[in-house]
Amino acid sequence: MRSLTLAEARERSSLITVTSYAVELDLDQGAEVFGSRTVVRFACAEPGADSWVDLKARSVETVSLNGEPLDPAGVADGRLTLPGLAADNELVVAATMAYSHDGQGLHRATDPADDLDYVYGHLFLDAAPSVYACFDQPDLKAPYDVTVHAPLDWTVIGNGAASPAGAGTWTLATTKPLATYFMTVCAGPYVSLHDEHDGIPLGLHARASLREPLERHAAELFDVTKRSFDYFHGLFGIRYPFGEYHQVFVPEFNAGAMENPGCVTFRDQYLYRGAATRDELLTRANTVSHEMSHMWFGDIVTMKWWDDLWLNESFAEYMSHRCLVDATDYTDAWVDSSIVRKVWGYGAERSPSTHPVAGVEALDAQSALQNFDGISYAKGAATLRQLIAYVGDDQFIAGVRAYLTDKSYGNGTLADFLAAIETASGKDLEAWSRAWLLTADRDTISVDIEEQGGVIESAVVRRESPADRPADRPHAFDVAGWTDGRELGRVSTTITGPETALAGLEGTPEPAVLVPNAADLTWARVRLSDSTVAALPAQLAQIPDAQARAVVWSSLIDGVHGATASPEAFLDVFDAAWPHETNSSILTRVAAYAEHRVVPYFVPRDKQDAAVGRLNRAGVGLLERAATGTTESLAAARLVAGTSDDETLLRAWADGKGLPAGLEDDGDFRWIVVRNLASRGLIGAAQVDAFRAKDDTLQGGLNALMCRASLPDADAKAWAWEQLTTRQGRSNYEMVHLARGFWVAPDDALVEDYVPRYFTDVPAMSAWVGEDALSRVVLVAFPRVFTDETARLSAETIARDDLTPAVHRSLVDADAELREALASRATFGATV
Ligand SMILES: [Zn+2]
Repeated sequence: MRSLTLAEARERSSLITVTSYAVELDLDQGAEVFGSRTVVRFACAEPGADSWVDLKARSVETVSLNGEPLDPAGVADGRLTLPGLAADNELVVAATMAYSHDGQGLHRATDPADDLDYVYGHLFLDAAPSVYACFDQPDLKAPYDVTVHAPLDWTVIGNGAASPAGAGTWTLATTKPLATYFMTVCAGPYVSLHDEHDGIPLGLHARASLREPLERHAAELFDVTKRSFDYFHGLFGIRYPFGEYHQVFVPEFNAGAMENPGCVTFRDQYLYRGAATRDELLTRANTVSHEMSHMWFGDIVTMKWWDDLWLNESFAEYMSHRCLVDATDYTDAWVDSSIVRKVWGYGAERSPSTHPVAGVEALDAQSALQNFDGISYAKGAATLRQLIAYVGDDQFIAGVRAYLTDKSYGNGTLADFLAAIETASGKDLEAWSRAWLLTADRDTISVDIEEQGGVIESAVVRRESPADRPADRPHAFDVAGWTDGRELGRVSTTITGPETALAGLEGTPEPAVLVPNAADLTWARVRLSDSTVAALPAQLAQIPDAQARAVVWSSLIDGVHGATASPEAFLDVFDAAWPHETNSSILTRVAAYAEHRVVPYFVPRDKQDAAVGRLNRAGVGLLERAATGTTESLAAARLVAGTSDDETLLRAWADGKGLPAGLEDDGDFRWIVVRNLASRGLIGAAQVDAFRAKDDTLQGGLNALMCRASLPDADAKAWAWEQLTTRQGRSNYEMVHLARGFWVAPDDALVEDYVPRYFTDVPAMSAWVGEDALSRVVLVAFPRVFTDETARLSAETIARDDLTPAVHRSLVDADAELREALASRATFGATV
């Protein structure tokens, strides 16, 4: 299917103004297809001209333009030509559409817990024409009237307030002007909880089988929702305009959530079935706040073209953290950002696919999607924090308010946004935005100390910008140092050149640990001095500032990936500091990173058992000490469950015996144990299926697939590969879970035959899997056989010219990680 180009979009929006959409969906036609009737009213600036409407239908029944029938057979490649337009037009399209199973379009899933079906629309980025006929580009906005016919026992939720209109028919209130990709309908036997705040009706919805966790988490979800509304109303000075505010937890959702006006969709794993750590609750609160901030940035004002998608995401990423810190109990949200979001973004920055935050020309919609990554979110948010340091917070907020007011219900660009901030602040942002927004990559910052008798004589910050992507970025940040937990010095500085003296540190005692960017205000590779790195095992746990500890961990992770820190050095710090960690985000994320990334990627296979053993001992130690029911206890139990080789313990836990308090009925915890048993070959497929029978849910089914794929025998691998790469009915989530288990193996021999097959079989899946879903499969299914032969095949495949943009992009990123692993093993392999 061809992708809309920027040139086409410009031409069409200069010609067409959409007045309204009336969309009627018939969801009562069985599990495969649904009826879609669209009436579009639109004006044409040049009467007599031709244009086209986007339409990706299973079949088109009738089309009429201004009362004249058009031949439905004229639809080609997702487009129908509209010849000889009048000044004012009415297009009517009646079509039959297919439900999707890859999370794009109108996704339909069956809940195995009760065999009930659920439907939700996810039309981002260009799936709208698979649901209704439309002019699918972000700057052709119009109000919607939606009618839905559904089975009698279904509930319908959408952008406008839904009212039952008898006999399974629902009408949705007329919306404000929306971009095409924001239209959504969620329908099915959803269970619902309602509340109200400040005149805004609120709804929470989930599958019937998730009623218990929905009810258990509702108070927290409503609380964060209400606090976020109050905060954003105060900050932006514009009231939420989209009527009711529904948050729908939907199955098999590709992303975290989607900011459809009035009807936000979330992945339903956010309704944690079992025990949740504090950082999991923080992450969910952050997503609630993030999506809500999009109601202003993204929904009221939408980017004109996809190349400014970063404006939405950088802004929402920044605003949600700000809101959590200022208006909720999650006052450590920026620590979470450091160890979760920025670690993700720095990974994107290390890949050859890195790109500037803004200004990357997106010649068509699908290529824009490829730049929608950790740069758009994490680097963008960090860049906004630097912008605020540069222009002042009051000036920044005044500029944002002006931008939102001027462009309400329309579209904006980077130039519009910067102009608003320039006007509000009186500062010229030309050089600043060129360095920070329009140039890829990051500076490296470090601090050189000269001391005399333990007292600092001089301290200099060094800023190195990449030679191949030179830029002159000013940075505002803190440098702070500690010895034995005592903060010996802290200075705030703004650096504008390659060397900046830190006079504030002169004359202070030299600290054991010195952390550049200690408050994590800027975006840079933080290089710790050799003496600081050597001191970390003894010192890190004593530093009382969680934000600085997160920066240190992030720098270590960066160093492992960049082959400047050995995995051994990382594990030394882990052994010493992790069991004493008190910040929940650092505790759970660093453990997961160590278990799932550092050991399998960077530690050579023959040393992995020993490394896993170290992680396990750290987990056991913390589990023995931690108070029951705490995040510490839960994080430790998960680490033990994933890393233990104690068959007696694992079998007891899998059978529900001797479990740590609070995990007695935790199905998701049990799957961690079962996966460990399966990957060690201590149970077989029949036993995996028996555990699945105890947890006959969507989540249980996915975990069982992952466990079966993890079994260390040739038949299991053959079965999993066939299921992953040839079964076209598998959902997006099923594919990812099969892929997650597949490369888990005691040695390369069991899976190495699949390395060449990966490079042919997985790219070929683009024949039936959507780009968004497949991009995730390509990453997760990438071979975990770290050899030069894998690298050779990978390079050969990346050079092919028949890959789709998403497959190509994911391959480049996975390939970069393979090369990082190989470089680290070449540098440190003998010493681990
Ligand atoms: Zn977002």
